[in-house]
Amino acid sequence: MKALVMDRELQVMEVPTPGLLEGHMRIRVLLALVSGLDVDIEAGRRPYSGIPGTSFVGVVEDVRDQDDRRFLGKRVLARPIYGCGVCDHCRTGFEDRCRDRVRPGLYGAPGGHAEYVNLPARAVVPVPDGVRDEAAVLAPPVAAIYEAVGRGDLPGWTNVLVIGDGGMGMLTALSLASAGYTVTLRGKHGDRFDVLRRHGIHFNLATEDDELLGERPGRFGPALASYPYVFEATGHPSGWEAAVRLVSPGGTVYELSSFQDRVPRRLTAVFDRNIRVLGLRQGSLEPVLSIFQAGLFDPTEAVGPSYPLEEGPQAYEHVRTHKDRLALLRISREGE
Ligand SMILES: [Zn+2]
Repeated sequence: MKALVMDRELQVMEVPTPGLLEGHMRIRVLLALVSGLDVDIEAGRRPYSGIPGTSFVGVVEDVRDQDDRRFLGKRVLARPIYGCGVCDHCRTGFEDRCRDRVRPGLYGAPGGHAEYVNLPARAVVPVPDGVRDEAAVLAPPVAAIYEAVGRGDLPGWTNVLVIGDGGMGMLTALSLASAGYTVTLRGKHGDRFDVLRRHGIHFNLATEDDELLGERPGRFGPALASYPYVFEATGHPSGWEAAVRLVSPGGTVYELSSFQDRVPRRLTAVFDRNIRVLGLRQGSLEPVLSIFQAGLFDPTEAVGPSYPLEEGPQAYEHVRTHKDRLALLRISREGE
């Protein structure tokens, strides 16, 4: 099968199609997301060798267990993180607490930037009819964003600030606006006014001078107040600095950026100002897919162009160099 393989550098390669182990299903990948996380892997900022791709949709083509036959021919979305399935946490339904968690394309299993992926049934969720691949593949990041509502006690109808107007920041702003929050998006690009206006999202331009730090009030849009809830989605350490400055004392910073760095971070401000910091990495996929199915929210405006698998390195290049910070790999189509 054809796959993108990260081995010091990223290449499109012909690799053996993995054999189907007991308890696994063979999934033919339809569409995969290329995100800032994948680019961090390519750049060596996240150590990983193998097939990347943490978010993907595919069709189940083969199964080993009788129980899994119900998935045959069905479209499924991979869970970004799943448990070992045998420890006490997993067996009592708390896979998110599993100490041997698997994150395909990052640790424990190959990812979806390939023609085929083998996964156990517990690692996928069926995609409802009427939800396009392009929307379904965005369900994992949207679920992580919505997780803030539950985990962080984010009160309804409140003002939130999103820092970073790349793909992830746009997706965050759109997700929160669709959930009824009053959203201000702060970023350097400011080129998606049409989309922002349509969704009632305020925009605050961060100039090169203040480097997103918020030292000066914005020149466009409402002046920045201090916000009790700040979502950081720049993908850069500077976004963290901005978030800690712009959040009000006692407030919460939700960290969506995936960068793993050795950049020292000042925690004094976090402790002195009683700031709570929560990492958002996963959330429940089923409700998000239901929201998409009901037509209550279409996340696809946040995503950039789509590339065939052969042009995978160009898709990474696009995410690295363009402001979209999200691109798609169209690997195959249903019914092919
Ligand atoms: Zn487990």
